[in-house]
Amino acid sequence: MNEITFNKPFLTGNETAYICEAVRMMQLSGNGIFTKRCQRFFEQKYGFGKCLLTTSCTDALEMAAMLCSLQPGDEVIVPSYTFVSTALAFVREGAKVVFADSMNNMPNLDASKIEALITPRTRVIVPVHYAGVACDMDAIMAIADKYHLIVVEDAAQAIDAYYKGRPLGTIGQLSTFSFHETKNIISGEGGMLCVNDERLIERAEIIWEKGTNRTKFFRGEIDKYGWVDTGSSFLPSEIIAAFLWAQIECMEQIQNKRKQLWEQYYTTLHPLATKGYFQIPFIPDYATNNGHLFYLICKNIKERTALINKLKESNILALFHYLSLHKSAFYAAKHDGRELPNSDKYTDSLVRLPMYYELQPSDIERVCKTIADMYI
Ligand SMILES: *Cc1c(COP(=O)(O)O)cnc(C)c1O
Repeated sequence: MNEITFNKPFLTGNETAYICEAVRMMQLSGNGIFTKRCQRFFEQKYGFGKCLLTTSCTDALEMAAMLCSLQPGDEVIVPSYTFVSTALAFVREGAKVVFADSMNNMPNLDASKIEALITPRTRVIVPVHYAGVACDMDAIMAIADKYHLIVVEDAAQAIDAYYKGRPLGTIGQLSTFSFHETKNIISGEGGMLCVNDERLIERAEIIWEKGTNRTKFFRGEIDKYGWVDTGSSFLPSEIIAAFLWAQIECMEQIQNKRKQLWEQYYTTLHPLATKGYFQIPFIPDYATNNGHLFYLICKNIKERTALINKLKESNILALFHYLSLHKSAFYAAKHDGRELPNSDKYTDSLVRLPMYYELQPSDIERVCKTIADMYI
């Protein structure tokens, strides 16, 4: 049996042509034609505020953390079940991370439990839209309004996904996306910060450009530029933006295909889930699915290990991910000691199935058949 790998980056075919174009124009550093084209696309299609391409979602999160102007000891509420960068970006700014637990029926953070975590030092909430499925943003924004908090959406996995008809990434004051090769739309490494609060745009551009007001200078708004604030080199080169533009042009095609594959997994595995062998993804009424990833929740770590091994024997690669951050080597000693049982549950029992553009319907049949063989 041929190997069914876990992820395979999809090339639309125009990537190298656009890179050549960037090279021919001899415009290789950041914020050139392709960068502006990508940023404008996202602003217009989804209604994001100011979009700034970055070299990764991690960088976009670091920019967001800088824009929150945190003081040492300020607290940031972050789910424990997420990628390291969601928390690390804020820890680097001196914040204390207060980890929130996931919901019982899905990995997103439990909005009903956020208010209990708020103290006079709380400044930011960082909802992560896991698998591109929206967090309950009305509930989160209501708490943020009540306590005057900033909301940074970690929308790394959530391109082209919606909450009650609103695109994810438009709801918090700031939001971040990833174009890492494992995501739906890719540029190798890559990301984007969206600044929905107009008051933060000017400073975001400065932080993006090494703490200088160079962006203003290039727009002709000032006659020289200099060092005015903190920042770093967060902008990607035009070569990366050119690659991304080729992906953006095929976005609808990519999204339709991924959603079809996801639906096939869902309908094929639904009967087994109904019998109680495992859980399949739950999509609340307020959320859409963007076909980013398909996961199962096994009964426990033993069953998950058995399932991963069973798939591996059939030459199918399935992977688990996210180890509760409140138990991580870096942060466990700084955590306040609260148990976060749902986060631990997903750490032990969630497994991701192969998911990529070129996956064939027959591949999905084979994956599902192999899974069924283990249980029936
Ligand atoms: C992929 C991912 C990131 C990191 O994205 P990079 O572009 O690799 O830095 C952050 N948060 C979440 C939830 C992710 O899935």
